[in-house]
Amino acid sequence: MSKILKRIGTINYKNGKYANIFMIGNFIFFVLIGIIVISLNNLKESNTIKGQWFLLGCICYIILHETTHLIFMKLFSKEKINISIKFPISVGSSAKFNKMQFTIIALAPVVILGCILVLLIIFTPKNYTFLWTILLILNFAGSGGDFMQFFKVRKYPRNTYFQDNSDETAIYQEQ
Ligand SMILES: [Zn+2]
Repeated sequence: MSKILKRIGTINYKNGKYANIFMIGNFIFFVLIGIIVISLNNLKESNTIKGQWFLLGCICYIILHETTHLIFMKLFSKEKINISIKFPISVGSSAKFNKMQFTIIALAPVVILGCILVLLIIFTPKNYTFLWTILLILNFAGSGGDFMQFFKVRKYPRNTYFQDNSDETAIYQEQ
């Protein structure tokens, strides 16, 4: 059974002023929370990990984050995927995903990598906690675009489909 989809609109993130304010606001909010957590727990004092591991950790985090988006896109569709290397790095696809799939693709990295980092904080020695906390801050502060996609698609009914080419999201409704 093939469904007939009609394009009903577009969500454009790059042109909206609101989008930039949301991303910057989200970034500042989580960095401030991070600074408070780090100073209340004296995490910097108990850290023995050298600076280059923080840089490597951030690069690994970004690769894992985008890979998680890709894995879920591939899981839900066989269509080809475009990766845009502009900042912020984002991945898009020519496939149309339903609301549930689109929401999972958007939020999977922040949820899965966030859980892994919390487990690392709990189960590794205290001298690693500062490193994992920095990456956890990056996890939330850097996912503004994903949160925004979640908020934007939330208001559409279940039979809505989304196609995100990493610049804009086309919206389709089942007829
Ligand atoms: Zn993301």
